[in-house]
Amino acid sequence: MKVTDHIKKANGKTLFSFEVIPPQKGKNIQDLYNNIDPLMEFNPPFIDVTTSREEYVYVDKGNGLLDKRITRMRPGTVGICASIMHKYQVDAIPHLLCGGFTKEETEYVLVDCHYLGLDNVVALRGDARKDESYFKATQGGNAFASDLVQQISDLNKGKYLHDDIIVEHNYDFCVGVAGYPEKHMESPSLNTDLKRLKQKVDAGADYVVTQMFFDNNKYFEFVKKAREIGITVPIIPGIKPLAVKRHLQVLPQVFKIDLPEDLIDAVEGCKDNKAVRQVGIEFAIQQSKELKEAGVPFLHYYSMGKSDNIQAIASKLF
Ligand code: FAD
Repeated sequence: MKVTDHIKKANGKTLFSFEVIPPQKGKNIQDLYNNIDPLMEFNPPFIDVTTSREEYVYVDKGNGLLDKRITRMRPGTVGICASIMHKYQVDAIPHLLCGGFTKEETEYVLVDCHYLGLDNVVALRGDARKDESYFKATQGGNAFASDLVQQISDLNKGKYLHDDIIVEHNYDFCVGVAGYPEKHMESPSLNTDLKRLKQKVDAGADYVVTQMFFDNNKYFEFVKKAREIGITVPIIPGIKPLAVKRHLQVLPQVFKIDLPEDLIDAVEGCKDNKAVRQVGIEFAIQQSKELKEAGVPFLHYYSMGKSDNIQAIASKLF
């Protein structure tokens, strides 16, 4: 079922959802199930599964020399979605990236999603590769998420990349895209970034999921500004419970987001990471309560491979 239909069906009630990352290459999917299992009691209508970009790794050739190889450390997103859907009877949503994929490869992935009965996809550009200082579009790939949304919209109309004729089809993907309450790190301003978001919606995006934020006012202001420029689709807040002391540096550095002073003070006052995890849980409960009272359609949690903290948060809200 489409995310937008889940929202309509909920009739104003806030729903619970979360994001998982595929297990590392070579690991078993059971690790992932162990993290999903405790969250199922909160009835998530959907679970997102991330996609990782290709990376360069150095492989020892055995003669003292290192060989530079390209690989993907966490493959299998679409297969994992299919298995989640069948195991838990919920919608599973693959993240699709521009970076690292040609348009042909993306088309094959979309055809697979359709065969497997996945009704939703999240369309993203992806970040720069770790060995590159800025995002470079893959040759033959989409350059921006809006281009990827356009490719999916075209397929929804039965238009394949290299066929001029419209063939009989029933593609009807519901498309999610990313939004940034504190603007995307590369964007010169929040207003410019919002115009880019509008382009994604105009290209066919059905809903927005936000980057993590820790100050609800930034989300409320973002939604207000989005509505002012004619973005009418649902905007789902993304919540990341802070979990270790190092997050004080890592989250602002990687995601270019601000952390509130009271949260920083509370974390700095913790004697170990167990205490930090508890502070993160309590902060996220308060944050989620306020968002729920404001009537957000979903509270969407970033699990980053561990779910005990999200279980503790959800148990106070759902
Ligand atoms: P875009 O919407 O294409 O925007 C990228 C930048 O380009 C922005 O600064 C925008 O303002 C600008 N821009 C857009 N269009 C134009 C244009 N026409 N001309 C000039 N500038 C333009 N990453 C992963 O690798 N895997 C994942 O699974 C993943 N999941 C995510 C889920 C969510 C909810 C979020 C918020 C992010 C996720 N990311 C993921 C990270 C995401 O890939 C990065 O934030 C990436 O840098 C931008 O992706 P985007 O889809 O927002 O890009």
